Amino acid sequence: MKKVLILTAGFGEGHNAAARNLRDALELVSDDVQVEVLDLFESTYGRLNTLVKQAHLGVVRYAPTLWRGIFSLLDHVSVADSGLTGLTRLRTALGDVLRVTQPDCVVSTYPAYAPLIKELFRDHSEKPFRFVTIVTDSISVNAAWHRAPSDAFVVANRPTATVLHHAGVPAERIHPLGFPVSPQFAAPGIMPCPLENDGPVKLLYVINHGKKKCGKVLDRLLENERVHLTITTGRDAELKAELQDRFRAFDGRVQVLGWTNQMPALMLSHHVLIGKAGGAVVQEAIAARCPMIINQIIPGQETGNAQLIQQLGLGLVADRNREVPGIVEDAFAKKARLWHEWRANLLKHSHPDAALRIAELILKQCVDAGGWSKFAPQPVQALPDASAPAVPTIVDGTAARRSLLCDFHIHSNYSDGSLTVPELVDFYGPRGFDCICITDHLADPRRVIGKLSKLSNLVLAESQLEEYFEVLDRERRRAWRKYGMLVLSGIEFNKDGLTKKSSAHLLGIDMQMPIASALDLPETIAQLHAQGALAVASHPHVFKSEWGKNTLYLWENQDEFAPLLDAWEIANRNDIFAPVGLKRLPFIANSDFHKPKHIYSWKTLLQCEKDPEAIKTCIRRNEHVSITLYREGGLLPMASREKRPAAEFKLARETDLAAGRLLAAGA
Ligand code: ZN
Ligand code: ZN
Repeated sequence: MKKVLILTAGFGEGHNAAARNLRDALELVSDDVQVEVLDLFESTYGRLNTLVKQAHLGVVRYAPTLWRGIFSLLDHVSVADSGLTGLTRLRTALGDVLRVTQPDCVVSTYPAYAPLIKELFRDHSEKPFRFVTIVTDSISVNAAWHRAPSDAFVVANRPTATVLHHAGVPAERIHPLGFPVSPQFAAPGIMPCPLENDGPVKLLYVINHGKKKCGKVLDRLLENERVHLTITTGRDAELKAELQDRFRAFDGRVQVLGWTNQMPALMLSHHVLIGKAGGAVVQEAIAARCPMIINQIIPGQETGNAQLIQQLGLGLVADRNREVPGIVEDAFAKKARLWHEWRANLLKHSHPDAALRIAELILKQCVDAGGWSKFAPQPVQALPDASAPAVPTIVDGTAARRSLLCDFHIHSNYSDGSLTVPELVDFYGPRGFDCICITDHLADPRRVIGKLSKLSNLVLAESQLEEYFEVLDRERRRAWRKYGMLVLSGIEFNKDGLTKKSSAHLLGIDMQMPIASALDLPETIAQLHAQGALAVASHPHVFKSEWGKNTLYLWENQDEFAPLLDAWEIANRNDIFAPVGLKRLPFIANSDFHKPKHIYSWKTLLQCEKDPEAIKTCIRRNEHVSITLYREGGLLPMASREKRPAAEFKLARETDLAAGRLLAAGA
């Protein structure tokens, strides 16, 4: 069974129509495909996240119904409580959905998804599915459609294909298959409405919002005795009643409809469609080979649609609505020469079966897909609900209760550490760590020491913060794929005074975005909490070892800071701060890693799921938290030893094999 995920968005016209029609077509073309349509913009991240988690928990028990199950859950995400903030959240949500649903092919009918997929899968080099973009614009194609790569771009017509090609998309990736209109248009025996000499001229007049004052135009159209008028008013019941009243005398020549889902049939039974240049409507009119007179254009998104009608000679654009009756007169004058011209061009450019052709292309892509088995050596981690207890229940008798090996205080060469961020990932990953947080120094520039350390280049510069967060973001994805290790973004805020009692170091753990360096401690803590990060006091007590400079401000002002902080370092590298335990403060233990030998130091063990939210909850509650002195080899916790990264395992096997060959050769 092939799985196709269609991503869409309810902005403007056309995206949702394309998505729905493709789903219908895929289901018509194949019995061996599961298709779902998803609008991530409609779902709040929080709700979506919970639903993905719930659906994932469902995987274990109800694997066969997973695919449908997830989407029936997602369908019920309320539009009303949507409140997405930013593409980062959307990207995370998309990543979650993809990991859990593992589609063979992802189809996008909205341009915002391609850049997210590009980021999530490192420019597609590690993408385990095929990605097809359906460009719903014509001619005036927004660059967002093609700035990020796709395995295939489907466009509605040749002029649009040319636009994409000129923008640098390789020709072999562009498929001018037509716009995916409803497969109804391709049903056998469907013919466009023929025109008889001196017979009735059937006009379909679609009224949109803001174009209600059309009474006079309709009157003028009806002055022509041949004209038969079908008017659709959409969901405006009042307007419908008003027009029915107005044209009561024209019984037989005028039909007023409200909202209808019969547009394809109406277009096929009329000679001209009069309406606005909406993406879906224009493409359906083309599929129905129904010439169009456009009386309204939303500048920008609809400009290309109108150009298409003009450029290919499929109808005309009226600059003003009151010009419409004149255009109709011209079209049907002289034995309807102009109208026949339009119809001939439509027969040439129409692709009523586009959705079916595109469905075939998508199914072909599915066969070529790389597959998730290679991509995900281990199944997606079951993510706990925030309300669930921190300790997971034991699934079966053989599974040991596992602890996560964590280090939340690590410096890279963005400040005074010796390793780069990627080097840190490749250092901690193979050692079986479950979660690390990189926390480079950010000095407060208002303080003397801050000024000095800034000069020495041993702290993060504020101008580097954006890059720092980007690098961490990239490495987070790689670390998860390669080692199943969580990498959190963090900062160690250095608020150094001239004395130990006026100095404080504060860790921000799992930060989503930078925070200004020149803030007071309570404000810094508040901002950390506002973005869901933890605020932890680093080395809050007196160092016994020689290396550190004491930072006692937070300890000295415990009354103020204990209620604000999420935890205190009870151990930092080789030092243990017994008073943190005596005061029963929530605790964690960290390396304060600057160079490889610092790995042999105190670490935190957490009994919770491997998920940033679960980890933070576990630390805040400070239940099931313990510390361990890290030593290489036999002292690793069970869970960490089980989970050898695939790459390292492969390497070991190859070395064994090579050794075997040497033995066989008698070396
Ligand atoms: Zn420090
Ligand atoms: Zn540090």
